[in-house]
Formats: sequence, C-alpha cells, structure tokens
Amino acid sequence: MVPSEVRALFSVASRPGVVSLAGGMPDVTALPADALGELLGELAVTRTAVALQYGSAQGDPALRERICEVMAMEGIRARADDVVVTVGSQQALDLTARIFLDPDDVVVTEAPTYVTALNVFAAYQARIVSVPMDSDGVIPNALEETLRRLAEAGRRPKLFYTVPTFHNPVGVTLADARRPAVVDICGRAGVLIVEDNPYGLLAFDHQPRRALRADAPDGVLYLGSFSKTLAPAFRVGWALAPPSVRDKLVLAAEGAILSHSVLAQLVVERCLATQPWPEHLKAMREMYRERRDAMLDALATWMPPGCLWTRPDGGFFVWVTLPPGVDSKEMLARAVAAGVAYVPGSGFFADGTGHGHLRLSYSHPAPELIREGVRRLAGLLTATADM
Ligand code: PMP
Repeated sequence: MVPSEVRALFSVASRPGVVSLAGGMPDVTALPADALGELLGELAVTRTAVALQYGSAQGDPALRERICEVMAMEGIRARADDVVVTVGSQQALDLTARIFLDPDDVVVTEAPTYVTALNVFAAYQARIVSVPMDSDGVIPNALEETLRRLAEAGRRPKLFYTVPTFHNPVGVTLADARRPAVVDICGRAGVLIVEDNPYGLLAFDHQPRRALRADAPDGVLYLGSFSKTLAPAFRVGWALAPPSVRDKLVLAAEGAILSHSVLAQLVVERCLATQPWPEHLKAMREMYRERRDAMLDALATWMPPGCLWTRPDGGFFVWVTLPPGVDSKEMLARAVAAGVAYVPGSGFFADGTGHGHLRLSYSHPAPELIREGVRRLAGLLTATADM
C-alpha cells in the first residue's frame, strides 16, 4: 500500500491563503442542513430501538428500495434484493476486490483512473493493465486489442474497472455510441465490468446518461454513492450485483463491518422519501455547472499556449495537459507557494507516468476563488514557460 497523492495533499491544500483545486469534495454547505438535522434528531428519538441498533450487512430494506428508484433515473431496472449497501462506494470497491482478486490477477482499467481504486487493487496484489481514453472515454478498439493480447498470453482479467460517466480524474464521458461496444467486448471475453458511477446524476446539460448496467444486468457490477449528491458524511454507497456476486458481497461486508450505521441509512432513506429530490439534484447540477463554467472561462482567459484541458459536462473534474517538459509533481511546491493546489497527474496512472498532466476540481471553492486559483496556476505556468 502507498499513500494516495490526493490524501497527502489535504494538509497542504488547506493552508490559509491556498486555493485548493485539489480534492474532489462536494459543497455540503449547499445542503438543506436544517431538514437533515431535524431528521437525524427525530429518527434517534422516535426510532431509537432500530436506529441505534446493529442492522443487516446488506443494508436497510427501505433504503434499498429507494436506491432502485435512484438507479431508474439511469435506465436501470433492479430489485432491492440485489442491492448491497456499503460504507461509501469505496467499500464496495474494496469488497469487490476482496471477493474477486487473488495475487497476480489482472484488472483492466482506464488510463488514467481513480487513484483510490488503484490503491485498492494494489492492496490485493492485482496486476493493472491500462487502456487509453480520448475525449469520448475509453477507446473500444484499444480495449478489445488489450483483451486479445491478454488472452493470447493465457490471461483472462477478472475485472474491467471503469468510471464511464464524468470520469475521475479526466472529466470525460463514455460516448453513447461506444457503450454497447464496451459491454459487448467484455461480454465476449468473459470479463465482468465494474461500473463505478458516483457522479452520474450530476449531468449539466442532459438527462442522466443510460448506465452500462441498464443494458447488461449480468455483465456489470454497478457501484453508486450518495456522497456527491447528498453528503459523504453518511458514508452510504451501494453495489448492484448479479445474485451470485451479491451473496458474496454480503458475506464480505459482514466480515468487514458487521453492520452499517442504521441511523445514517434511515436519514438518507427519509431524506429521499420526504425531501424534494429532483429539485435538490437540479440545484446541485446548477451549482456545479456554474463552477465548471467559471473554471473553463478562467482557463480560456489565462492559460498560456501549449496547455490543453477537457470540457466536462457533469461531475467535478477538469484534466489539464501541460506544455512538453513541464512536470506537474515537480511544480506542485511552487504552485502551493503561489497559492494554488492541484493533484499531479502521476497518481492516476498505475505505471507512474502522467507527469505532464494535472487534475483540477471545481466542486468545492466558490466561482470567484476558482477563477483566482486558475489565474495563479496560469501565472506560474507562464513564468515556467518563460524560463
Ligand atoms: N469512485 C470514484 C470514481 C470516486 O471519485 C469516489 C470519491 N472520490 C469514490 C468512488 C468513493 O466515494 P464514496 O466512498 O464517498 O462513495
């Protein structure tokens, strides 16, 4: 196990005066705090015997029903029986790795990919094989070619781990036209897709995308989360799995945590049942869209020639490609001294490449601060280019 570059940055990025465009944290100050506070108090008092007790490792049944309604927004038809509540979707990833991976097993991922997924796979001693992406997400031909090469070498990967919608760290989305191809390629190769989708409902310009899972119930293990749409504090995520996998996930969850916080699950369930969820999602989308716009405007205004960046239409992240020769990891200390923090690209690549990239997040600072942070970063890059 190695420390995540994102975690290591938290203390630096939270220094006074530093604009952090590093961590992908939601803005929880925009939540209906009074309503959530009332629900917490009310549930602890009126449902004490249940809310403060151990619960099942599969999760609260009423919450699992609500989770099915949430997934229906992405075209998924699911039974509450097949949902396993987890401690954030991070735990779903860990449990998935625990039940599938033996040392030296192959996991195929996008390159770059979610850094903490890489850490999970590394902890189970998996071998990562990466597939490139472009502005339409993972490239199907490259995926097919990779699986073919592995098959020729006698290796069948256990999993294809993907963040198809509003990717972390790149911000791009797998094009609708590519989705059937990805499902088909993995299906033919007998590789289970792990669709990690914490950002899918934060679509700025469209209705939510149709999930991969919607068209491949047996070929996709879907992971979801309320961390970005509600609050990470509840630590409520979930896995939707084919029944054989679901039973193993529940067993693994029992071993890991015995029980979830029932109180947290009940708050989320009541919140979904009693608060205007579609309006809440709309408000979140508008807030993050305004911040995305502030970041893209600032990048277009200030970044020096030779820099490229993605244009996300949902989620939290912009991925920046730096001019040749500029190393984002090496530049970080100077960036912090100039009052801005980002995440260097190398942490998102299993092979430690990616020094010419960095990830910016627009989810947490207010738009004026986002502009100021980008202005500082662009100033530093301009000075670096002039040296
Ligand atoms: N997957 C991805 C792609 C993420 O970005 C995150 C959060 N950064 C997670 C999973 C885990 O989120 P949580 O455990 O809070 O649901």
